[in-house]
Amino acid sequence: MAAVNGAQLMARSLKEQGVDYLFGIVGFPVQGFAAEAQRAGITYVGMRNEQAASYAAHAAGYLTGRPQGCLTVSGPGVIHAFAGLANAKQNCWPMILIGGASPVYQNGMGGFQEERQVELAAPYCKYAHAIEHVHRIPYYVNQAVRHSLYGRPGPVYLDFPDDIIRGECDEDEVIEAAAVPEPPRTQADPDAVEAALSALESAERPLVVVGKGMAWSRAEDEIREFIERTQLPFLNSPMGKGTMPDDDPLSVGAARSTALREADLVFLMGARLNWIMHYGLPPRFNKDVRIIQLDIEPEEIGANVPAEVALVGDGKAVVGQLNRALDNRQWFYPSETPWRAVLQEKAQANMEAVQPMMDDDSVPTNYYRAFKDIVDWLPHDAIIIGEGANTMDIGRTQMPNRLARHRLDAGTYGTMGVGLGFAVAAAVTNPDKPIVSVQGDSAFGFTGMELETMVRYNLPVKMIVLNNGGIGGGVHPLKEGQTLPPGNLTYGARYEGMLEALGGKGFYVEDPKDLRAALDEAMAYNGPTLINVPLNPRAGRKPQQFGWLTT
Ligand code: ADP
Ligand code: MG
Repeated sequence: MAAVNGAQLMARSLKEQGVDYLFGIVGFPVQGFAAEAQRAGITYVGMRNEQAASYAAHAAGYLTGRPQGCLTVSGPGVIHAFAGLANAKQNCWPMILIGGASPVYQNGMGGFQEERQVELAAPYCKYAHAIEHVHRIPYYVNQAVRHSLYGRPGPVYLDFPDDIIRGECDEDEVIEAAAVPEPPRTQADPDAVEAALSALESAERPLVVVGKGMAWSRAEDEIREFIERTQLPFLNSPMGKGTMPDDDPLSVGAARSTALREADLVFLMGARLNWIMHYGLPPRFNKDVRIIQLDIEPEEIGANVPAEVALVGDGKAVVGQLNRALDNRQWFYPSETPWRAVLQEKAQANMEAVQPMMDDDSVPTNYYRAFKDIVDWLPHDAIIIGEGANTMDIGRTQMPNRLARHRLDAGTYGTMGVGLGFAVAAAVTNPDKPIVSVQGDSAFGFTGMELETMVRYNLPVKMIVLNNGGIGGGVHPLKEGQTLPPGNLTYGARYEGMLEALGGKGFYVEDPKDLRAALDEAMAYNGPTLINVPLNPRAGRKPQQFGWLTT
C-alpha cells in the first residue's frame, strides 16, 4: 500500500470536510503543508499578519456556512492568531486554526518556537487538540469541524507538530472519518411555539430583534415571511442587518433607542442581551419587559433577563414552525397603533436631526455628508465592512443592508482592526460581489499591510478611510509645544499613498463635492482602491457638538 504523509492527509481531510479556504502565513513547520493544501484544491491566501489571517478565516466561515481555516507557524504565529479565535468565539462564528508546532520528540527541551499551544488555545475554543499520530488526522479534522459547526458555532484548534506533518503512514492504516453533514436543524417545543404567538398577541408594544444568529442560520426567508404575516415592528442587530431589509417599512432601526426602551415585549431572535443590547435592563429597556427568546444554545436562555417563552432550536427551523403555527391564527399586529405612531415619529425626528450635517458641504467634511454620497453609490448587493468607533456606528445607521450576511463589523468583542482581514475574506469567498470597507483611520492602521495582500491577489476591495486624525478624533492643528494627546494620529496622513505604492489605486478627497466622482472611479477600477477622506477632527454624532452648526 502507498504511503501518505501528514501534510497530504491533512490537506485531503480538510478538503473533504468542506474547508475550502486557508488564510495564513507560512514558515516552520507548515510551509510544505500549505503547498499540499493547494494541491488538494484548497484556496490558500497568504497574508501579512496572523491576526488578520485569523480574522479572515472566521469571516469566511460566517459567509460560507462552513468553518474555514487559518494556518500559522508555531509559537508566536499561533499566539498572534488567538486574536481571531477570541473574536470568533465572541461572535459565535466557526473557524479552524491549524497551528504548526515544534516536534513532539523535542517537547520540554526548549525547541524552536516551542509553546503550550493547545492549553493556551483552549479557553478561546470549543475544541482544542494536538494531533499525535499521522493515521488519525481525518478523525481529528472531523471532530474539529463538527465541534465548530454544530450547536452554537465557534472556533476550534488543531496542533500540527513538525514530525506529524512530515511523518508517514500506509494508506490502509488511515482511520477515515465521514464528511460532517450540515448541522441538524433542531426544532423548538411546539407548546413554546404556541406560547410565543400568544404572548405576541397579548403585547401592546411588541418588538422583534433579529440578531446575527439568524443570519448565520440562513433564516432570512422564514423571517421575512414571519414579519410579513405578523406585521410586527422589527430591529436588526448590528450584524443582523439585512436579514430583514433595513429599508423595510416595518423596520424601526431609525428609532432604535425608543423601540428598545419602550417595548413591553421583545422577541429576541438569535441575539444576546449583552452590552450591544444594553443587557435588556433599565434604563435602556422597560423594567417590566417581557422576553421571548429564540436561541440554539439552551444556556443562553434567561441570560440577564428571565425569558417568558424559550424557543430553543435552530433559527431557520423554529421560525418555520412559527410560520406554520400562524396558519391557524387570524392575528396580525394592526397597522395603526399608538406604538407604531411613537416609533414613526421618533424615526422621523432622528432623520431630520442629521439632515443639516448631510447637507453641509464644508471642508473638511463630516461623517454624515460623506455617508450621503457613499449610500447613493453603494450597490445593493455590496458586502459592507465597517469599523472604527464613529465610522462604524454612524455607518450602521446610514448604510442600509438589504441582504443577509452582507454586513461585517467589530462585532460582539468590539475588535478594531478586523476590517481588512474581513474584506479579504469577503472578496475571496464572494468574487462576484462588490466589497466595500468603510473604516476610521485608527481601525485601518491595525492591519494596514493587508493592502499588499489585496494587490497581490487583485482583490477589488473598495476601501474608504474616514480620517479624523485620531482614535475617536484627533487634535489639529496642535498648539506650539503641545504634548501629543494619546489618541492623536497624523492628521491628513496619506493612507491612499500606501496603496498606490503597493500597486493599487488611491484617492485623496478633501472637498466632499469630489467624493462621488472618486467613488465612481474606484468602482470602475479593476483592483483594490482606497479613498482617503480627511474629516473635521471634531466631527461626531450629535448635531449640537458641531462648531459649524452653532457658529
Ligand atoms: P447579535 O450581536 O446580532 O445581537 P449575538 O452574537 O449576540 O447576536 O447572538 C447570536 C446568538 O445566536 C447566539 O446566542 C447564538 O447562540 C445564536 N445562534 C447561533 N446559531 C444559531 C442558530 N442556528 N439558530 C438560532 N440561534 C443561533
Ligand atoms: Mg479616527
